[in-house]
Amino acid sequence: MELNLHDIKTIKNLMEMHGITFRKEFGQNFLTNSFVTEDIADYCCDGRSKTIFEIGPGIGTLTRELAKRYENVLSVEIDRGLIPLLKYTLHGYDNSVVINADVMKLDLNELLAPYFEKGGISVCANLPYYITTPVLMLLLESGIKFDYITVMVQAEVADRLCAKAGSSQYGSITAVLGYYGTVERLFEVPANNFIPAPKVDSAVVRIKLFKDNPYARVGEDGHKLNEKMLFRTIKAAFEQRRKTLVNALSTGFPEIGKDKLLEAILACGHRADIRGERLSTEQFVELSDRICTISEK
Ligand code: SAM
Repeated sequence: MELNLHDIKTIKNLMEMHGITFRKEFGQNFLTNSFVTEDIADYCCDGRSKTIFEIGPGIGTLTRELAKRYENVLSVEIDRGLIPLLKYTLHGYDNSVVINADVMKLDLNELLAPYFEKGGISVCANLPYYITTPVLMLLLESGIKFDYITVMVQAEVADRLCAKAGSSQYGSITAVLGYYGTVERLFEVPANNFIPAPKVDSAVVRIKLFKDNPYARVGEDGHKLNEKMLFRTIKAAFEQRRKTLVNALSTGFPEIGKDKLLEAILACGHRADIRGERLSTEQFVELSDRICTISEK
């Protein structure tokens, strides 16, 4: 009979057998509830992808559920000590490949290219909390056409990722995410579903990436959106979110001048004293486009 990787005693025995302990610095909190791992595996990509790219397999609990459902599972684990254990727990799962690396240091385009030949790819991860935002940005900025990115994050971070413009949780990461796809909060996972139990509850968030980015071409003359300018506009707006948008942008774009920035804000139909936190991704796209046009005049 297969080992039950959700059983706390089994997890402890396995780790002892391999001479390893939970490593806090790698954000190691392993799932112990089979309903949670099964649900994540079921819903991570709507059954659409052939390959799942998993970040941080831990002892392989979620990896196994993914391997039961999808053609290929490629997992990357930073902790060298877990590799022999994963070899043991994933024995017989021939569609699963584990590599020992820091995901932040990988060339994802090169790594995933052979998998794209087999069909679509989605990301699924119970993310180490200490690098949630950098990992999300790495995945999004890689330009890789994932179908979905499904991640377990701290509930508070999930609030931010799914926030509506104008709410207190809405931040630059929310506006940036909106440029890449649509975000959905799937379900909550209380802290007592992990060993060791983290201090806070978690939630699973699924990002469905745009196949054709609706913002990639805007402007009356159909010119291409300047992505760099968009992200700079969002960053400037949120770096001083208590200030009015025009003042925040003046700091972020010292070379343009306040008058021109105000002209851009008004041309988009906003009030002169609006704050950046009220703008949706679409409105940021429109504004950064105006800033481009106005600054070139
Ligand atoms: N997937 C397992 C589960 O759900 O039980 C473990 C999840 S645990 C929250 C996070 C995992 O990510 C750990 O196994 C940790 O060692 C690994 N990890 C942390 N930082 C990483 C990095 N930079 N690259 C790859 N894996 C990483």
